Amino acid sequence: LTHNIDVIRAMAPNSCTWAAIKANGYGHGLLPVANALASQADGFGVARLDEALKLRAGGVVKPILLLEGFYSADDLPAVVAHNLQTVVHGEEQLLAFEHATLAHPVTVWLKIDTGMHRLGVHPDDVSDFIERLNACPNVAKPLHFISHFGRADEPEHPLTQQQIDVFTSLTASQSGFKSLAASSGTLMWPTSHFDFVRPGISLYGVSPVSERTGADFGLQPAMTMTSS
Ligand SMILES: *Cc1c(COP(=O)(O)O)cnc(C)c1O
Repeated sequence: LTHNIDVIRAMAPNSCTWAAIKANGYGHGLLPVANALASQADGFGVARLDEALKLRAGGVVKPILLLEGFYSADDLPAVVAHNLQTVVHGEEQLLAFEHATLAHPVTVWLKIDTGMHRLGVHPDDVSDFIERLNACPNVAKPLHFISHFGRADEPEHPLTQQQIDVFTSLTASQSGFKSLAASSGTLMWPTSHFDFVRPGISLYGVSPVSERTGADFGLQPAMTMTSS
């Protein structure tokens, strides 16, 4: 893990790194992975609040980002209490912030759907979300921006450059941090690195593309499985 994050960071030398350790550290163990990467990752990305709470309970003090945000307004007090950062990808989460009374403002990453069509705010709605989040006292300023690629694991796929262009134009006038690349963007699309890269599968030594192995990128397997 420590070798792999070095290799990955060297590919994006001007960016900070959120190490994606959701899904029990991709099966390697949430806390063991967090502890192994603690000095090299700038922070950790998890999918669910309970994963973030396990990290905090295990002594992890680095920044933690909820990559899919929170599920209900009831989660917000824990987000505040444990100093978590969260994605906002839709109206429900925005309304939760607007209606909450929180002890401290929360660092928010507005997720833009630049073309993957899984989670995120439609480009037409981004300026409205920015305005409302900026007007909301529960949201720390400046606002940060995040998006996710749909086909960056296909080296020639035109969607990737389109997503970079959409993300760039929607966030150009914004002062907050920007983050677009997961493993495939980090290793293969240098113009997608922005302020934070978010490697997951590559940390564990696995290539994010089918045509190349982890070793082709200088990565080493973090797990060995044997069977009879
Ligand atoms: C899982 C995830 C990542 C890491 O993706 P890999 O392809 O495993 O590198 C990055 N960002 C988000 C939002 C994720 O959900």
